[in-house]
Amino acid sequence: MDQKKSSLSASSCFATPVVALAAALVVPTAVAEEDMSKPEIKVERKKEPNGREQLYMFIDGVKVHETDTTKQPLPPVVTPGEEPGDAPSDALVLFDGTPESFTANWTDTKGEPSKWKVVDGAMESVRRAGYLQSKKKFGSCQLHIEWAAPSKVEGDGQGRGNSGVFLMGTYEIQVLDSFQNQTYADGQAGALYGRSKPLVNASRKPGEWQSYDIIFHQPKFDQDGKVVKRATFTVLHNGVLIQDHVVLSGGTGWAGPHAVTGYKAHPDKLPLSLQDHGNPVRFRNIWVRELKD
Ligand code: MG
Repeated sequence: MDQKKSSLSASSCFATPVVALAAALVVPTAVAEEDMSKPEIKVERKKEPNGREQLYMFIDGVKVHETDTTKQPLPPVVTPGEEPGDAPSDALVLFDGTPESFTANWTDTKGEPSKWKVVDGAMESVRRAGYLQSKKKFGSCQLHIEWAAPSKVEGDGQGRGNSGVFLMGTYEIQVLDSFQNQTYADGQAGALYGRSKPLVNASRKPGEWQSYDIIFHQPKFDQDGKVVKRATFTVLHNGVLIQDHVVLSGGTGWAGPHAVTGYKAHPDKLPLSLQDHGNPVRFRNIWVRELKD
């Protein structure tokens, strides 16, 4: 079982918990259709000095293969990390393996120093220390994070190497020792908890380092708190695609053995958090690049 403390707080305004839960779980079935009218494409035919007719196409007002960089600016230069998985030059490093990096970037959920430990260049979850959360807040982002389930195998199902990466402290990508450890599909490693199982199980053995590369776009809410644009996730687990631009249908909080939470409006930026589920899961090499929506 997974737990998220605030999972049912959205229901307090309803008359009865049963009605509240049912209302919270109503998910729009129709996904907004792609706008096929975009981009705007204009076509011009011009005679060149040599007399030949040339075709010019403009996409949203910009000429195809435009070489004038005042009209088509070049992308910024980013220096990639030396090795795959290393932070590129424009990333914000949230943990580099040092105790200084841990205290500079992470607290408990009350903003106080966390009781998680730094061991062998990794941050290790400590039972009952609570969630670890980043000091900085993020919305849409690219996140790289590495984790290892305990090498000493204990427990089974959801009780083995359980933690979680919570985008905006809210949407969980499950961390679990899913190497030869069966549990429900929408709760195994790489699942958007309770909402979307991973495409494949790309788990390494317990104790071995694994990576998640996550592209997350945050949900948007209207003034009444109703979700008007749902979150999307693309996730690679150890370099293998496991969530392919998945539109998250609702919240990922645990609301019972066969129930999850709905969307609940929140600010545009919130801390990243990592779950204390009672197992000494380790994390390292964490970096983030903020994305525009
Ligand atoms: Mg978890």
